[in-house]
Amino acid sequence: MRSLKNTADVRSLIHLYVTTLEARGYRPSVIGAYRAAVEHFVSWAAPDGDHLHVSKAAVRDFLNVHLADCKCLGRIQRGVVTVRSALNHLLMVLGESKLASEVQLSAHLDIELQKFCEYASDVCGLAPATLISRRQWIGRFLAQQFPKGSIEVSRLSPKQIRDFFSSQCRGYRPGTAQVLASAIRSYLRFRALQHADQVESLLAAVPSAASWRLAALPQYLETDEVASLMAAFDRTLPQHQRDYAILRCLVDLGLRSCEVAALRLDDIDWKNGTLTVRTENLNDMMCCPCLLLPDGRSLSICAKPVPPTKAVRFLFVIEPHSTCR
Ligand SMILES: [Zn+2]
Repeated sequence: MRSLKNTADVRSLIHLYVTTLEARGYRPSVIGAYRAAVEHFVSWAAPDGDHLHVSKAAVRDFLNVHLADCKCLGRIQRGVVTVRSALNHLLMVLGESKLASEVQLSAHLDIELQKFCEYASDVCGLAPATLISRRQWIGRFLAQQFPKGSIEVSRLSPKQIRDFFSSQCRGYRPGTAQVLASAIRSYLRFRALQHADQVESLLAAVPSAASWRLAALPQYLETDEVASLMAAFDRTLPQHQRDYAILRCLVDLGLRSCEVAALRLDDIDWKNGTLTVRTENLNDMMCCPCLLLPDGRSLSICAKPVPPTKAVRFLFVIEPHSTCR
């Protein structure tokens, strides 16, 4: 069981929960749904915002007893699957946090962590929940590297940094490894600034977890999702006609966004029903043998005449005062 004694603790917990999910690459919509589920649980478990007890038994009671007959007012997250998943993540976040805080620190390391937290708060402006997380991870790092309490960063080697990450990150998701890496980088920078330690080689040894920025995006849209997207355009409006035609180029012809943007009026051969796609080398032309869009008229409607001063007649242009891009 994990107990939080006051409203600030509860707020910090929710902040830690959200930042942990963000670090692990969850989509904003999923984080929002999970957060709403956790807030629902908190409003049940700690109606006054204080003395929140989180345990597997409490989660089980909430799911089996409260949720089955929930009469909470307002827009509440009640989906059983979502709530169960959200609360399992909550237990996991608390479990990892507890795991990290179980490390017993000597008084010397505790003072060092206190100094780091003051620096991170005053100089870097880190939020309290982030500080809690970083303090725990750095504490674990220091306890392993300097078990006798005397901190001598100059004696650390890049190999020790790599070994630490190898031993700590086993079984963790890339997001958690990234949180740990951020904490250690932050501490090393603190040492460089406050103690003039040489940390360049140590910083270079901190690994970067594979967590791609767009990894949370779906690889492709399902057929019904494409249909919904197509149906979203009001084709009585000129801008929507243009955007619809752009989308048809992407969906029907499989063109890249840069290829669509580079299309010119002269690239369309209406007579033979072909479209010329230019590669990076403008002299190297590729003729697309497929037909144009199934309703090719939409292209012709959207083709805007460009000013005569422009040498290149692009197919898709932005209206002079349009906010639509
Ligand atoms: Zn309820």
